[in-house]
Formats: sequence, C-alpha cells, structure tokens
Amino acid sequence: MMADATLNPLLQPWNTPYGLPPFADVKAEHFVPAFEVALAAHRAEVDAMGSNPQAADFDNTIAALDACGRVYRRIEALFYNLTASETSSALQAAEREMAPRLAAHRNAIQTHPALFTRIDSLHGQRERLGLQPEQRRLLERFHTDFVRAGARLAPAERQRSGQIMERLAEATTRFAQNVLADENAYRLVLRTEADLAGLPDFVRAAAAQAAAERGVDGLGVITLSRSHIVPFLTFSDRRDLREQAWRAWTERGAHPGEHDNRALASDILALRHELARLHGHACYADHALTDTMAGTRAAVNQLLQQVWEPAKACAEQERVALQAVADFAEQRARGESLDLQDWDWRYYAEKVRQVRYELDEAQIKPYFPLDRMVEAVFDCAQRLFGVRFVEQPHIRAYHPDVKVYEVRGADEAQIGVFLHDNFARASKRSGAWMSSFRMQSRNSGDVGSTNSGEALPIIINNNNFAKGAPGEPTLLSFDDARTLFHEFGHGLHGLLSNVTYERLSGTNVLRDFVELPSQIFEHWLGEPEVLKRHARHHATGEPIPDALVARLHEARRFNQGYETVRYTASALIDMAVHARTTGDALDVVAFERAELDRLGLPAAVGVNHRLTHFQHLFSGSSYAAGYYVYLWAEVLDADGFDAFVEAGNPFDADVARRLKQFIYASGNSIEPTEAYRAFRGRAPTVVPMLRKKGLLEVSG
Ligand SMILES: [Zn+2]
Repeated sequence: MMADATLNPLLQPWNTPYGLPPFADVKAEHFVPAFEVALAAHRAEVDAMGSNPQAADFDNTIAALDACGRVYRRIEALFYNLTASETSSALQAAEREMAPRLAAHRNAIQTHPALFTRIDSLHGQRERLGLQPEQRRLLERFHTDFVRAGARLAPAERQRSGQIMERLAEATTRFAQNVLADENAYRLVLRTEADLAGLPDFVRAAAAQAAAERGVDGLGVITLSRSHIVPFLTFSDRRDLREQAWRAWTERGAHPGEHDNRALASDILALRHELARLHGHACYADHALTDTMAGTRAAVNQLLQQVWEPAKACAEQERVALQAVADFAEQRARGESLDLQDWDWRYYAEKVRQVRYELDEAQIKPYFPLDRMVEAVFDCAQRLFGVRFVEQPHIRAYHPDVKVYEVRGADEAQIGVFLHDNFARASKRSGAWMSSFRMQSRNSGDVGSTNSGEALPIIINNNNFAKGAPGEPTLLSFDDARTLFHEFGHGLHGLLSNVTYERLSGTNVLRDFVELPSQIFEHWLGEPEVLKRHARHHATGEPIPDALVARLHEARRFNQGYETVRYTASALIDMAVHARTTGDALDVVAFERAELDRLGLPAAVGVNHRLTHFQHLFSGSSYAAGYYVYLWAEVLDADGFDAFVEAGNPFDADVARRLKQFIYASGNSIEPTEAYRAFRGRAPTVVPMLRKKGLLEVSG
C-alpha cells in the first residue's frame, strides 16, 4: 500500500539550511513510496512534453527536459549517497528493489518515442536554430544520450535493451553489496604483543580504535579498509599474518556462497556484450568508447602500452632490489632465503625506502594530521580560485562525523555547500569518491533553487581514513593526503561549475575528462611551499623540516614501477574482458590469470583490483572499459600543471584563471579537447606524464 505522501518527508518542501535533505526525518522506508510518486510525476512531465501540440523548440523540449524531474533526482541523489556511505540492511533491501525500477525509468525517459522524435527533429536542424554554444552542446548531448540509450532501435530491440539495463542495474547493485559484505565479514584480530610485531604507533592506535568500535576483545583489529590493510602489509613483521590479510583482501568477492561475485561478473559481461551487439558493436568496449575523448580501443591500448612495457621493466628492477634485501634479512634472521611474494612487496619496499631515502612512514605521518590537510586544500582553493570554506558546526548531516561548510566566492557570495565525510566505517563502502545532493545550474525550475532557477551545488567528498583514537588526531600517510586532494579536486569541479544547464554541469563530462580536475589538484600537495605552510607536526606545530621535504621529493619516483604496473595491469584486464566478442559464460578468475600471464605481469606485484571485487567495472557501468581514464587524464594533468611550472609560480594568477574558466567551471558546456586547448593554448603532449612517472628514460 502506498504511504500517505503528505507524511513522507522526501516529498515535502525541504525547508532546511541550504535546502539540504532533511536527514533527521528520513527513514529507509520512506524511499520506495517516495520514488513511486516522484517517478510517476516525472513520467507525466515527459509525456506532456512529448505530446505538446506546439512545434518542438529549444525551450519547450531541450531546456524543459533539462529542468524536469527535479524531485525525483533529489530523492535519488540522497538515496545513492546514503546507500554508499551510511547504509543499513533496510536501505540495501530498498536498493535491491529500486535499482532495476530506476533503470527502467531512466530507460523509458531516454527512449521515449514522442520525445525523441522532437529531439531528433531539432537535432536535424541544429545549424538553423540560432542557438548559443551551450544550448547547441546541450541539444547534441541529449541527442547522444537518447541514441546511446536505444531510442533509435527497432521496438523489439529497444525493449530488449531496456530489459538488459534493468538486469544490469540489479546485478551491479548486488555486486557492490557482496563486496561490502565480504569486507565487513573479515577482521584480523591481533591478540598478543607478538601479533603487533613491527607495527608503528599509528597502526597500533588505528587497530585498537577499530577493535574498540567493534567491541572486539584483543589488542587490535585489522579490517579490509585500505587505510588499515596497506599500513599493516607495509609494517607487520609477521609474514604469516601479512599473507592471511593479503589473501582476505584480494579474495573479496571470490568466496563460494551468497556473496560470490564470480558468476555475477560473468553475467554482467554477457549482458553488456548483448547490449553492444544491439547497438551494432562487436564488443562492449567499442560501444563504451564511442562517447569518450579516446574514441577507440586502439587509442586506449596505444596509451596503455606506452606505459606498460617500461613500467614492467622498472618493476622488475625494483623486484630484484627487494629480493636482495629480503634474502639478506632472512639469511641473517633464519639462515635461509625467501621467495618474495605479493604480501612481501610493501614490507620490503618500506625497508628499502627507509634506508635509501631515510624516510620512515611513521616519521612522516605526524606532519600530516587530517585537520591541517583539510586547511591545506581549502587554502589552495582560495589562493587559486578565490573561494572560501566556512564551517557550519551547528548543521548535522547524515552522520555525526560529516562536516558541513558554506562555500563563498567573490564578494563573500555563497556559491555552494560542501560536506566532508572522511572516516571509514562499516556502513560505508570502501574507496574514496565525490558525489552531490544537488548540481549547479540556472535552469532548475522551482525545486531546490534559491531564486529564479539558480541552483547552488551541494557537493560531498567521501574518504575512508582510519579515525584516530578519542582525543588523538587522525594522521594521514602521504598517499592518504593525496587522496584527500584528489577528491577535493572533484569537489571543486562540482562547486565552481558555472553553466546554465544541469546536464552540462560540473562532473557531468566525458568520463576520460572527469579525472583531470581531481588529478591536477594533487600536484599542489607536492609543492614545497604548500608543505611548509600546512604540513605541521600535530603535537608541536613545527613545519615539516626542509630535509624531510627534500627526501619526500627525491623519493617520489620510488616504487613507481610497482604502482604503475598494478594500475596498468588492471586497466589492460578491463579492456581485455570488455573486448571479448562473445557473451558466453566466463570463469573470470581463470581469464584474469591467463591474461596476466600473457601480459607478463612481474612476480610479487599483483594488481590494483581483482575482477571479483573490481567495483569500477561491476558496481555500476560508468567505468566499465574505462579504468584507463586515470592514465588518460594523467597525460592532461601532468601537461596541464606544467603551465604553472612554466609560469614559475604554482599559484600564478593568469594560469589559475584559465584553469578555473576552462577546466573547473565549464563542465560539459565546451567540447573537452577544445576546453583543454583554451586552457593550455595548445594540445596536450604525453611526455610530461612519462617524465613524472620516471618512465621516459626506460622507454627509450
Ligand atoms: Zn577521481
């Protein structure tokens, strides 16, 4: 039975500060009935547009399509933010129920025959409509969206394509829930002092904190959260425990039983293959790549290969050095040699790093307390783009750990709202990401706008840092700090957006452009000036010593072969598994092993993601045949940051102004190649990326 809509807070006006969702009033059981009302209303709006007796024009069709469905979209945004970062079994059940229905809804809108007829006719005469450039871009974008959704297919094929989308939504939802279940099911309990051997204080503190949070008896708990597992693999002297933890981490999704992702991944691949065939493509990768900057598999593979061979050579050199260190240590300790395994690499790499660069993770972390690093990202944003972040401590979001900030631009005018959700917890999925409750636009109808259709963005950054013990600061590794900067770069892409239409706003760009604003922002963390100002010891307030900054700088290419091979192998596997020209059932574990053998993955390195928990590929479809986008964007971010290097100032006002205008603010309103050229004054070159990774010399 449908609940009384007048009692459902999701369907009421949100008279809250900034129009934030009414978090305190919303319960899991509100979502399904609210969706039912909002989807029907959206559908009615679109039907009315399709059957409008007036001839189609830009306003009554294209701008109207962009503006409609705002109630549904704000509910959906809240729903997916909660299922990702503060979920519950009730929300997960609602998600399993709604995922296919939402997919069916999106599909019904994007293949709506009467509406598509109007869009198609406008598209056919787009040269003669006297459109502004952004309007023209919006028309082309919607036309592409509809064609890719199957609007041009014959009725039977269109129907099948719709069914596939629903089943994909179901399967990818289950895939993500299975990974979370495996992550929550595992804990390595450290019971005795011997179990803690080698762990520095910050790892012990995080493990103790995790044990306390979970009510576990013992000295500490290691979870599968990256901020737990990576330090444990880096420092634990207990090879047996490292192996145990490493296996649990890399076998997520590959256990028989109700959370097994092996067959599920195969089903998803088969559905994608069928979808690609319906659209006339030989494989899913071809279908996915038609709407990207790269355009073709050949272009993606060429870039990946340019990195793969030199990175392999580099990792092999690293491996030999680690093996020597491991042998030496083992000979001394036990009189035997050691065959370096996947769970040993980080451990011995840390030993080498400590000796070669006198860099000790435990010595670095005190200079990277979370609070100061948050000040650092805000300060960089202010110096580059003139925006200020003002904390609103009286506003409680969906979890007490989430901080809310008002974002102000020139003349202190409010330009958006920023939510920072930094800590790992059992109700949050792993990884780090940016999302929104509302995208910026000036075409938002009357829902959630401040005045005359202007909607200010509400942007969220999620991280998974291990929280410090009560009264203790949360200390970040340099990698954690880089993740903080990365997600904040995405956040700025949403917050600085300055376009008219929501479909073109912020991160709604082609997916191989979307990592540019995030990755280029990471560069400021490495700037000595930024480190001197913000990397201060949590207890003494002393800035990080020059010698330590210099050593960090020297060590920046250390272990890059390992990191690059792990990433590139995952990107190549993604391309290979989506380049199959058959939808036959696949043993994904065997496929992955055979493919890695063929590629010649160096021993003891491993990959970033195994297929059974590769959430980029299978927890949704936006990064399927798209894991390469980080490398694609790295070509752009390395080349782009060089503009500041050439100007001799990491905060050069002119370069920053162009970066803001053409990269952070323009969303999808300009074609990405053109946007980059407008920022940089020329097309990008691949050399700065290869140099940054230390691969230029090796590649010859
Ligand atoms: Zn990113």
